[in-house]
Amino acid sequence: MAQLSSRMQALVQPHLRTLEPYDPNFAPTRVNLSANENTYGVPARVRTAMDAALAATPTNRYPDPMSNDLRDVLAARHGLSRENVIVGNGGDELLYNLVLAFGGPGRTLVNVPPTFSEYAFFASLAQTSVVDVWRDPNTFAPREDELVEAARTANLVVLTSPNNPTGDVASADLVRRLCEACPGLVLVDEAYVEFAEQDTSAEPLLAECDNLLVLHTLSKAFALAGARCGYILAAPDVIDALAAVRQIYSVNVLTQSAALVAVERRAAFAPVVEKIVAKRGRLCASLERIGGVRVWPSQGNFLLVRVARASRIRERLRDEFSILVRDFSYAPGLADCLRITVGTPEENDAVIEALSALVLEEAANA
Ligand code: PMP
Repeated sequence: MAQLSSRMQALVQPHLRTLEPYDPNFAPTRVNLSANENTYGVPARVRTAMDAALAATPTNRYPDPMSNDLRDVLAARHGLSRENVIVGNGGDELLYNLVLAFGGPGRTLVNVPPTFSEYAFFASLAQTSVVDVWRDPNTFAPREDELVEAARTANLVVLTSPNNPTGDVASADLVRRLCEACPGLVLVDEAYVEFAEQDTSAEPLLAECDNLLVLHTLSKAFALAGARCGYILAAPDVIDALAAVRQIYSVNVLTQSAALVAVERRAAFAPVVEKIVAKRGRLCASLERIGGVRVWPSQGNFLLVRVARASRIRERLRDEFSILVRDFSYAPGLADCLRITVGTPEENDAVIEALSALVLEEAANA
């Protein structure tokens, strides 16, 4: 891995010296199942309305800093009011703002790995100590009692449901216990919740837990990863604190317009989400039929698989088949694991066929 030059290591803030310049390992491929995007894209009718809205959006004026029109439709979607919603330049910006506002030196964030790596990364940028409560290494279920204990002294707890990359969901009972135990704030990251079983969301608990935050994104079910739009639901004073630290124009006018159309026409996305969920079941069954592959049950739009020589298989998928999946084999707790996004039937067939051939070949070479 690259590191900062010695000149930069001398100049950056001391806690940033060991940072590595970001390399997402991006490679253009025929089939990209590496980033949990919605590979179907925005439904054509919605896209037409979006294009009209974008064409009618002036770009000479600064955006509404708080995206109030969008806040209103999001609040309506969730049966809340505008004061309960803050919009960000992707969920990522809001996660960063969360540690900026509530983390910092001498403060702690409880993390539940293996999980989305950005929580620990943003915490380190803001000099927040991370307390890891590792999931069960076999099932990836959170260790609930340990987690509640750790929450008792935390400024922040972040729990992902469905979890990326393991696909499991957190129970409402666990979220309630965390909110009760934690003197700080508990964020449930529901970036993938639209793909989960009904009634999975922690949202109903917002009414009783004023330290609960629920994160959503339009990058997944709504197929707007490129537009960068996420939002948090929480009590109005939590929203105010997040608003106080944000960069005021971070959500641009084009994103606000596109997101507004997508959320207003959200019913059009439901059949796409249903298709992805159905294909997830099919992809899971097909992967399980390949000998030597373990697949974890998932409620997201992705599957975590364990296969011998995962890194080599991932490279060969890319180089010989032009198929990109995500390699987690170097991540602690995820030895020999790959994450495969559920795509269109053609994309799924391509990855199944290629993976079946490669697993056989690699087993023969072992
Ligand atoms: N949370 C989780 C669990 C994610 O996987 C992602 C994106 N991969 C995000 C949040 C952030 O998504 P975005 O910034 O695209 O809204």
